Amino acid sequence: MQEIKCLDHGFVRLVDYMGNDFSITQAARTSYGDGTKSTTKDKALIRYLMRHRHTSPFEMVSFKFHCKMPIFVARQWIRHRTASLNEVSGRYSILPEEFYLPSREDINFQSDTNNQGRSEQAVSPEIIDYTLSKLENTYKECRKTYEDLIEKGIAREIARIALPLSQYTEWYWKMDLHNLLHFLALRLDKHSQKEIRVYAEAIRDLIKPIVPTTWEAFEDYVINAHTFSGPEVEILKMLIKDNRKNIPETVSNISNRELGEFKAFFN
Ligand SMILES: Cc1cc2nc3c(=O)[nH]c(=O)nc-3n(C[C@H](O)[C@H](O)[C@H](O)COP(=O)(O)OP(=O)(O)OC[C@H]3O[C@@H](n4cnc5c(N)ncnc54)[C@H](O)[C@@H]3O)c2cc1C
Repeated sequence: MQEIKCLDHGFVRLVDYMGNDFSITQAARTSYGDGTKSTTKDKALIRYLMRHRHTSPFEMVSFKFHCKMPIFVARQWIRHRTASLNEVSGRYSILPEEFYLPSREDINFQSDTNNQGRSEQAVSPEIIDYTLSKLENTYKECRKTYEDLIEKGIAREIARIALPLSQYTEWYWKMDLHNLLHFLALRLDKHSQKEIRVYAEAIRDLIKPIVPTTWEAFEDYVINAHTFSGPEVEILKMLIKDNRKNIPETVSNISNRELGEFKAFFN
C-alpha cells in the first residue's frame, strides 16, 4: 500500500482504487454508442469532458484512502459531503497519545489582510519557543486528565472530551474522482489552511499516476485556469478592441476590491 507521511504523525495511504483514464472515456462513449478509440482521441475526449464540465464519466473512477490527521484538519475535511467514510471510535478505543505540534516555520502571527490566514511577518525565536512550550504543556495536561478519568472508570466517550483539536484521529475515506477533484481544487488552493493542503498534496501525488490524462486536463482547465466575471470580460473585450493597455480606474458593477484583484491577476 502506498503511503505518504503528512505533518508530524499523519499519513495518507492509497488502500484501493477502481478504474483509470480509460474507464472515463469508456463510460463517456456509451453516450454516443461508440467503441474504444486511439490514445490521442481518448486524451482529446477527456480534455473535452473536463472543459465542458461533463462530469459524470469522472464518477466511474473511485479511490479509497486510509488517512490519519489532527481533529481540526478532519473537521475541515469532513465538510466535503460526498465521501463515504469510517472514523476510529473514541467511544470504543483509547485514542493514541499523538498531538499535532506545528513546525517552527509554521508558527506565524494572524494576518492583517486575510481574516482566515497567517501573516508572512517573521516571528522571533522566543515567541516560537513560547508558543511551542504552551502547546506542549497544554497537550500533556489534557492527556493526563484523559488517562486519569479512564483510570477512574469514567466512560471513554466522556473522558475523550478533555482532548484538544490537535489530537490525531484516522479514517477510511472513499470518493469518486469527480468529487475528489472538487475536493482537491478547494484544498490545494492557497486559501486553504496549510495543514489540510499537505493532505490534499499527498492525495494528488497518489492519484496522478493512475489518471495522468485527467490530471493534466484538470490542471489546465481548473487548477491553472481563471474565471472572469461578466463585467471583467467586458473590460477585456474593450481593451482588445480598442488596443488599450490600461484597465480603467472604476468600472460599473465591479467593486474596488474586485477591480484590484482583476488588475493583480495581470501583474
Ligand atoms: C478556504 C476555505 C475556507 C472555508 N471556510 C469555511 C468557514 O469559515 N466556515 C464553514 O462553515 N465552512 C468553510 N469552508 C467549507 C466550505 O464552505 C464547504 O463546505 C466545503 O469546502 C465543501 O465544499 P462543497 O460543499 O462544494 O463540497 P461537497 O460537500 O463535497 O459537495 C460537493 C457538491 O455537492 C453539492 N452538494 C453537496 N451537498 C449539498 C447540499 N446539502 N445541498 C446542495 N448541494 C449540495 C454541491 O454542488 C457541492 O459543491 C471553507 C472551505 C474552504 C476551501
